[in-house]
Amino acid sequence: MLGRGWIALVALGLAAQPAGTLTEQYREVATKLIDAAMVDQGGMEKLSYLCDRIGNRLSGSLGLEKAIVWAAAQMNHDGLVNVSTPRVKVPHWVRGRESLEIVGPIPQPLVLLGLGNSVGTPAAGVEADLIVVHTFEELDAAGARVKGKIVLFNVPFTNYGETVRFRSSGPSRAARLGAVAMLVRSVGPPGLRLPHTGALSYADGQPRIPAAAITTEDAARLQRMVDRGTPVRLKLMMDARFLPDADSANVIGEIRGRELPDEIVVVGGHFDSWDVGTGSTDDGGGAIATWEALRIMKKLNLRPRRTVRLVLWTNEENGGRGGLAYRDQHSAELGRHVMMLESDSGVFRPIGFGFTGSDTARARVRDIARLLTGIHADAIGAAGEEADTTPSVQQAHIPSMSLDVDGNYFLIHHTPADTVDKIDPLHIARASGAIAVMAYVVAEMPERLR
Ligand SMILES: [Zn+2]
Repeated sequence: MLGRGWIALVALGLAAQPAGTLTEQYREVATKLIDAAMVDQGGMEKLSYLCDRIGNRLSGSLGLEKAIVWAAAQMNHDGLVNVSTPRVKVPHWVRGRESLEIVGPIPQPLVLLGLGNSVGTPAAGVEADLIVVHTFEELDAAGARVKGKIVLFNVPFTNYGETVRFRSSGPSRAARLGAVAMLVRSVGPPGLRLPHTGALSYADGQPRIPAAAITTEDAARLQRMVDRGTPVRLKLMMDARFLPDADSANVIGEIRGRELPDEIVVVGGHFDSWDVGTGSTDDGGGAIATWEALRIMKKLNLRPRRTVRLVLWTNEENGGRGGLAYRDQHSAELGRHVMMLESDSGVFRPIGFGFTGSDTARARVRDIARLLTGIHADAIGAAGEEADTTPSVQQAHIPSMSLDVDGNYFLIHHTPADTVDKIDPLHIARASGAIAVMAYVVAEMPERLR
């Protein structure tokens, strides 16, 4: 809450705030927000219902449709206003049945997950000899030996950005040389023979071949066999296919600003998930942590100067249409977006926020983050753009933030193990509190963040 003395300073044009000023100004309200986040299990209750009762939420699925209807009703129940579900057309990919087996030298079924957006195989499957490579250069060097083969990219996980390119571009790189199917070692750390799905991206002008992820353990086994000079023959069967684009929606709710309602602070996460597991850490928990930030403000009867808007984006995983639709449907007001924050790094101990924006804005955000030292969530990292905010952020040069966490996201995301039991209620509560403080102060402080 602003005191009269502060307003006088602003009026005198002395509002350039030294470091620490915001901290003192908002310490009391920040403490209230964090305390409120920690005393109830609201976030965990929502997440359990979403994941256990509604289930996973791939674009085009009944689960996602049900989740959208439920979220809009719950936002109204929480007292948010202007709750809406603007329509978004999304790709409708279905996995169908799938299997992979070693045919020779000995028969053995392997664990797989088809990659999102992959084509299927003919009904009888694809049977071919295996070739293992570890880089795109090694693939290209293999040249004519790739033709008619099933290619395995056996690339150890380093970090997501570095390793994921074999999943996304590998199929077309292999198809260019005549491969009949592509396998990728799962893009994640070893984890008890768990396959990790995720989207591929076919290049224009290349044949579209079926593609799947196998486990680290099975990739290592195939590698050992090839290293011993044993020819390996595999059979892949996938029913995967696209249906016509489906109707979906982003879900939006607000706390309307009391003085500058047309200036908007956006927080949110993506509401779709993969079709295995229940999308608990990716990104049910991330989405609900931002939602809870608004519920906590409402619970404390806090109505900041500017509008705080919650957006649950659709179709992040295999199309990004929700983020694009938000940009296009709100293009007239993007210039009045003060900041956009997306939480999509899983639910683990929050350590702070990534930030992308001007140096002045970064200094201000650092100052606000000092309010979070008590819960050790005060670090401000180098970059804050996330998949769903990027289209809007880049179009209108909006300061952007991500929630940064300390956890092994890539161990379970995109796997059947992404279930609610992995989520610590304390982490979702702390994340809600940290996001509530950041969003509230950015929406409340006299000067616009820029
Ligand atoms: Zn995600």
